[in-house]
Amino acid sequence: MTHGMIFWDVDTQFDFMEPAGSLFVKGAPAIVENLRALFRYARDHRIPIISSADTHVEDDPEFRAFPRHCVKGSPGQQRLPVTLAEDHVVVENKKEGPELEKKIQGRPQVIVEKQAIDVFTNPNIDEVLKHYPKDVALFGVATEHCVRATALGLRRRGFRVRLVTDAIAAVDEQQGRNSIREMEEAGCELVTTREVTSR
Ligand SMILES: [Zn+2]
Repeated sequence: MTHGMIFWDVDTQFDFMEPAGSLFVKGAPAIVENLRALFRYARDHRIPIISSADTHVEDDPEFRAFPRHCVKGSPGQQRLPVTLAEDHVVVENKKEGPELEKKIQGRPQVIVEKQAIDVFTNPNIDEVLKHYPKDVALFGVATEHCVRATALGLRRRGFRVRLVTDAIAAVDEQQGRNSIREMEEAGCELVTTREVTSR
């Protein structure tokens, strides 16, 4: 790949993004226009997008801590139309073989499924990441849960992480602010959608 960076879009799915969703993140509708701008920019500049997708089974253990959400195949599990590229590919949360490289090669969007807050629980994630620059612009929901886990996991792996602060939303404002500070202390840079899309 020739471009210097990738975009990383966290869990922009109906159950989190839409008021009718079962785990609605209050600030989510306010970031949709920025998500649209980021996806458009990625498409126009051929920047690969990695997207995580919460993908639960019925009676998932996580539903003891959170309301039922993002059950695989349900409407709530779908991405917003603006965060779904036409030629995307899905990497399930089970170990893939050597065909993985071919499967993701040249795709504008690789959707990595997960059943936990931390996307790095998907056994394919490090294999996927081998094929991209170690420079990520990160956005999505929710700031203090899955965005935080992604940012810290990427930093631990030595990635440059630019957190797009006007394209993330928190469940709890205060916890969101605390998490942004924690991500900053872990070496993440804070940027805006305009900064990322005006290079
Ligand atoms: Zn979940």
